[in-house]
Amino acid sequence: MAVSNMNIMHEYEEKRRQAESDAAFRRSEVYQKVPRIREIDEALESTGLNALRSYIRFPSQDKQQLIAALKAENHALREEKAALMKQAGFEEDYMKPRYQCPDCQDTGFIDSVRCHCMQQRLIDLSYEASGIREELERNNFETFKLRLFPNMILDENKPSPRKNMKNLATIAHDYAESFPDNHPHSLIFYGTPGTGKTFLCDCIAKRVLDRGFTVLYLTANQLCSNLDEYRFRRNPARAEQTQIIHDQLDQVDLLIIDDLGSEYLSQVTAADLFECFNQRVLKRKATIVSTNLEPEKLRATYMDRLYSRFTGYYRFLEFYGPDLRTLGR
Ligand SMILES: [Zn+2]
Repeated sequence: MAVSNMNIMHEYEEKRRQAESDAAFRRSEVYQKVPRIREIDEALESTGLNALRSYIRFPSQDKQQLIAALKAENHALREEKAALMKQAGFEEDYMKPRYQCPDCQDTGFIDSVRCHCMQQRLIDLSYEASGIREELERNNFETFKLRLFPNMILDENKPSPRKNMKNLATIAHDYAESFPDNHPHSLIFYGTPGTGKTFLCDCIAKRVLDRGFTVLYLTANQLCSNLDEYRFRRNPARAEQTQIIHDQLDQVDLLIIDDLGSEYLSQVTAADLFECFNQRVLKRKATIVSTNLEPEKLRATYMDRLYSRFTGYYRFLEFYGPDLRTLGR
C-alpha cells in the first residue's frame, strides 16, 4: 500500500472539520433551546473588544482597574452560562468540539512536531500485515486465559508453566502500565514456540497503544527486509513505505520485534540490525524482542556485539511448556 502524507493531511483536515461542524450543530441546538446563552456568548466575545474601545476613548483611565472590571464581568457571564446549561440538561462542554485526539485537536501536530496520533496513523498505514489491529483486539490482557497453561511440573528445577506464565503476565502487565518508565527499558521473551510469547507481546502493545504511545510491531523478517530495502532501494514503488518504517525505527516509543532468529540475515543486514538495536539503546527507547532461541544460541547467532546490547539493556524472560497451538484451544 502506498502511503501519501498528503492523504493523511487531508484526512486530518476532514476529521477536524467534522468535529467543528458537529459542535456548531450542537451550539445551534442549545441556542434554540436557551436563547439567553447565545446573548451571553456574544457578550463574551465582545468584552475584549469593548474594553479596547473604552481604553482608546479614555486613555487616562486606570488600566488595572479596567482589566479587573473586565474579568469580573466575564466571570459573571460564565457563571450564568454554566447555570443555564446545567438547568437545560446540557453537559458543560456540550458545545465544544469533540476531537478524536484532544492532545493536538486533530491537527496532527503539537508545536509543529507530529503528534503521537499522527505518528501512529503513519505506522498503521505502513503495517505490512495490516491485520495487526484486529489481532490486538483478540489478544490482550482482557482475553488472556491463564488456565490454558498446564499446572504440572515438567522440570524439577522450574515452576509449572502456569505458575511461570502467571508471573510473566504480571511482569508484562506492570511493564505496560508503567511504560515508558521501566528499568531496564527493554524485554526479551525467549523460549520454545507456542508458549505465549507473541500473545504477551500483543497484550503489551495493545495497552501501550491505548495509553497513547506509539508502537511499531514487526516480525524480524519484516524488519530485516525493510532494512535491506532501505539500503538497496530495489523497489521504488515501496520507497515511501520503507522510509516511514525506517524513520520510526528509532522514533517510535515501543518497537516490538517478533520471532527474532527466523529471519534471513546477510552480513550487511546483520550490521544494520545491530545499528537499529544500538540506536534504540542510545536514545533510551524501549524494545521488546521475542525469540525461539535460547540465550546461548542467541549469542552464537548474533555475535557478541549485538548480544552485549541485549544483556546490558534487556530483561530476559523465559517461556516454557507444551506448544499451545498444537494442543488446540
Ligand atoms: Zn493528536
